[in-house]
Formats: sequence, C-alpha cells, structure tokens
Amino acid sequence: MRLLLVEDDMMIGESVLDALRGEGYAVDWVRDGVMADSALRTEQYDLMLLDLGLPKMDGIAVLKALRARREATPVLIATARDAVSARIQGLDAGADDYVLKPYDLDELSARIRALLRRAAGRAEPVFSYGRISLNPATHEALLDGDPVALSQREWAVLEALIARPGMILSRAQLEEKLYSWKDEISSNAVEVYVHSLRKKLGPDLIRNIRGMGYMIAKEPAPATPRKDGGGDGTHNPCTDDAADDGGAEGGDGGGGE
Ligand code: CA
Repeated sequence: MRLLLVEDDMMIGESVLDALRGEGYAVDWVRDGVMADSALRTEQYDLMLLDLGLPKMDGIAVLKALRARREATPVLIATARDAVSARIQGLDAGADDYVLKPYDLDELSARIRALLRRAAGRAEPVFSYGRISLNPATHEALLDGDPVALSQREWAVLEALIARPGMILSRAQLEEKLYSWKDEISSNAVEVYVHSLRKKLGPDLIRNIRGMGYMIAKEPAPATPRKDGGGDGTHNPCTDDAADDGGAEGGDGGGGE
C-alpha cells in the first residue's frame, strides 16, 4: 500500500513517517500543498493523510482539487482538537475521516486500516482467501491456521493481490505499492517476491498473466481432497474475468452507512 503523507511540521512528519513505514506502507512525504497537489496528479496512492494547515496551498484546497478530478482516493485529514469547524469543512470537502493532532499513532494506524478496508469494499478486518488469512492489524499471515513468516514486501505484494481477487496488477502497479520515491527498485524485485510467496503459500496462488502482470484467481481453488494424493494439477484455466474489477473506481465514496 502506498500512502501520501502531507505534513509541514518536520518533527511530526518524521515520527508519522517512521510509524507508517514500520507498518509496512510505502510512504511519500511532502511538506506543502503545492507538492501534495502535484504528487496526487502524478502518482496513484491508496490513501492520503492530509494536514490542513499547510504552506503555499491549504489542505482544503488540495482536497477540493482532488475531488474535482473525481479521484476517489481515501483521505484522512488531521486537525487540532479544538478545530471543529475545520473538521466539518474537511469532511464536507470530501475527506473520509479525520484524526486529531497531536497524533495518537496507534489510532492513526487503525483509522488508516479502516479506510483502506472500506475503499476495498470489505467489512471484515481480516482477509480470508481459501486456506490463507491475513490480518492487516497484526501483519499475521496464516496458511491452514498456521503462521507463515512474510517479509514486509512479500506481505505488501500479497495484500495488494488478495485485496482484489480476479484483478490483474501489472509489475509497475505492484512496484508503486512497494516503493516510495526514495527507494531504489531492482528490476526483478516483484518477481522475487512473487517467487518467495509461491514457495511459502503454494505454487498456484499467484498467477502470472503473460505480458500483463499478476493476479489471484477470483475464487480460491477448491480444497484438495485429503485421500490419495489429489494434486493432479487440474486448476482452472484463467478465465477472462479481469474486466470487472469489483468497483474500486468511479464511485463517489458514499461515506458509509
Ligand atoms: Ca500544519
């Protein structure tokens, strides 16, 4: 998951950046509204954490410009505890939720997880897919109930794919979720993570769609029968159902009920 952090205070920004990176997110940090606006126009983010009081262009203007482009990127605004009217203004300008400053970093992480979950159309906090379950709050991955140790980037690749089964993500799209501006990307990084995920979780989980990218099938493969072997390799050929992507785009966000 790739996040945009917009915060002009150096000390606060650094501590939030550390905390979010510690949670495994790729984070780009900008310190004024103009930089935020241009980052949003050039990169695809899974979520923006937006301070409202910013130099050059205030947070509300950044937010309004984003929504005027009909971008549904989840936005969490940060305001001072007593700034009720700023929060109302922010929510009415298209923010999805708010956090109070000074930040409580645990609460911030939980709100980010909740927004990412909602943006992916999920209500339940744990991803379940066939024999696998992923808990974004604890970063615990289970295969048949047994813990599987994943590196942060293996986790990030798996989470990106499992969040939208049936949707093909290109290598570039996966790289975007793994790396922020400052990171160096080796050319085969995504292949390396996919390879190790297949070793840990089974060879058929992540499919390589030639020339397009990677996907996890819309439906998990049926459990292999326990008796005599079973694994005869009859997995479904890739059906062309990548066109309907479960609808993360175009909606107006709705605000939840
Ligand atoms: Ca500020």
